[in-house]
Amino acid sequence: MSESFESSRRDLLAGAAAFAAATLAPGVVLYANAATTGPVSDKARWGILIDANRCDATCDGCVKACAEEFGVTSFDRPATDPQWIRKLTVSDPATGVTRSFPVMCQHCKHPPCVDVCPTGASFVRADGIVLVDRHLCIGCRYCMMACPYKARSFVHEDIKDQKSFAPRGKGTVESCTMCVHRIDDGRKPACVEACSTTGHAAMLFGDLNDPNSEIAKRVAAVTTTQIRADLRTDPAIRYQGI
Ligand code: SF4
Ligand code: SF4
Repeated sequence: MSESFESSRRDLLAGAAAFAAATLAPGVVLYANAATTGPVSDKARWGILIDANRCDATCDGCVKACAEEFGVTSFDRPATDPQWIRKLTVSDPATGVTRSFPVMCQHCKHPPCVDVCPTGASFVRADGIVLVDRHLCIGCRYCMMACPYKARSFVHEDIKDQKSFAPRGKGTVESCTMCVHRIDDGRKPACVEACSTTGHAAMLFGDLNDPNSEIAKRVAAVTTTQIRADLRTDPAIRYQGI
């Protein structure tokens, strides 16, 4: 065996220890980043407050930022393209007032997606972020049917632009992770950062459990809404002005 072959083999094995890929079934390739994060605490409950009064109907900065962050590409098939965040425009028939705002996974405290998942792939972190473990997801799509917010997508296509911090896989279900990889790094979600860059600054990220946080102060001071609060899912995504 030549020295160069041995050295490439050693490099490959070293790489595999940090970044493992597994083929579960034809077309289903899962990647796992072996990097670990710090312990997750239930002291925090991460949330986003979206001010519809500041959101511009013609702006899709948050949607574009999300797609770029996770490599979510369109195949020009609106019915089946993965969609982690979307813009909605609603009108009040009584007043004619129109509001535009983004909708993504609401990171419910009592998530129906988790209740129905037969494998435990859908789970809530201690800090309230709802995720899908792609290694456990069998693609049954029960969670998509259970989610009242149409927040989850089934991956129909091969994934080409894999990100090590957010493994995606054809044949599995995915949704907004609230950019958990950024939060664990002390950064804001990509959509929140992008919204700020556009100058609209309609999205405020923070810890709902911390009374001294800006988001908690705002939630305490103004009227905010949880979409379909009547379902008692208790979303961590709050809205102002709708
Ligand atoms: Fe689950 Fe849907 Fe709630 Fe997200 S919005 S936690 S996918 S039920
Ligand atoms: Fe759970 Fe995956 Fe089925 Fe959703 S599609 S219910 S995450 S196994």
